[in-house]
Amino acid sequence: MSTSTLTSFTSLASDFYGYEDLLTDREKSVLADLRHYLETEVKPIVNDHWARAEFPTRIVEGLADLGIFALPWEETRPFENSAVFRGWVALELARVDASVATFVGVQNGLAMGSISVGGSPEQRAEWLPRMASGELVGAFGLTEPLSGSDSAQGLRTVATRDGDDWVLNGSKRWIGNATFSDLTIIWAKSAEDGQVKGFIVPTSTPGYTATKIEDKQSLRIVQNADIVLDGVRVPESLRLQQANSFRDTASVLRLTRAEVAWAAVGNSIGAYEAALAYAGERVQFGKPIAAHQLVQDLLVKCIGNITASLGMVVRVSQMLDDGKQRDEHASLAKAYTTARMRETVAHAREVLGGNGIVLDYDVARHFADAEALYSYEGTREMNTLIVGRSITGQAAFV
Ligand code: FAD
Repeated sequence: MSTSTLTSFTSLASDFYGYEDLLTDREKSVLADLRHYLETEVKPIVNDHWARAEFPTRIVEGLADLGIFALPWEETRPFENSAVFRGWVALELARVDASVATFVGVQNGLAMGSISVGGSPEQRAEWLPRMASGELVGAFGLTEPLSGSDSAQGLRTVATRDGDDWVLNGSKRWIGNATFSDLTIIWAKSAEDGQVKGFIVPTSTPGYTATKIEDKQSLRIVQNADIVLDGVRVPESLRLQQANSFRDTASVLRLTRAEVAWAAVGNSIGAYEAALAYAGERVQFGKPIAAHQLVQDLLVKCIGNITASLGMVVRVSQMLDDGKQRDEHASLAKAYTTARMRETVAHAREVLGGNGIVLDYDVARHFADAEALYSYEGTREMNTLIVGRSITGQAAFV
């Protein structure tokens, strides 16, 4: 990980209530380096890659050099750091590009998180350092063509024990990073006990194929794939040893849902900051449009949504560090902040008038990308039902 700070940390004007005061100097220093990298190396190329629906593979090395993949894990982290800080990393990434934030969310949260939560100490020691260094890219395969929101019960991919091996058969859909991942965590129902188990599947294993989903109109930089598993044979040593049911899969999702909520704040800030800058420059009726009351109204609605959402994600991350965060806490943050993000990117788009739908001005990308963040890692409806069950004591999923 880089030790020198390339830029000093400057406060984000969009952090209206100054939540960054909760970060340590060391955390701010890492964020300053990350922000500098994103502004200089990523921002200049994202619109072009978005248009071509291509992933800029060189950022894997860049982000690994900054230590971004190493930060959360006991086995690899260079210093103790807080969940608020790690959420802020997701915010900074999404502020520049939500696809890049999603790439990191899959690598760090879903793939490495599965190994951290479900792996044995030996599996964690074997895989996490190699993923933290960027040597290996991971993906997370839960969703299937016929099972999205109901993945707790509806998985059709089957794992059958055969001596010291497991044989996987089935298919997966929407799997991020999977067109180029070195390994994919595959969640499958055991033919023996009917429980969901997780497997570290090297993507070179015979019978494994991943095909890119073309023509997405949101998060175009993220490479999502349809996966077919046709008699994929993996040894017992690649079964996540401490993942014994969907409850363990849900533990991974709880952590990543909160980070998607942070990314939603970052994506909102990216759109808002572009709109604010535009409003200061664009002149109509003899003055900058920022000086028109109705434009200020749109901008203030944006900063209001951002500030409310930031307060929520800060608290939900503090609860994680305090050992108090439950599924419904992460679900409420994800459902609420992504809904506010959808409003915010629409207001920002409106501020730009016609230019709000042109890629060059960035807002159109943030606007389109909001749709995928709104739906993945549990739709608003699913997260609402998780919170609804918690507050009423009544499950209303089926
Ligand atoms: P469905 O489950 O078919 O739902 C369709 C609609 O019905 C939704 O509005 C939903 O809320 C609603 N609905 C369903 N059931 C109910 C109910 N009981 N009550 C009320 N409403 C209901 N998955 C992975 O495993 N790995 C990944 O890396 C990954 N990356 C993704 C990246 C992108 C860009 C996208 C779009 C998806 C990704 N997903 C991934 C899948 C994602 O998690 C699912 O799309 C999501 O869970 C919703 O499932 P679905 O699309 O099948 O929708």
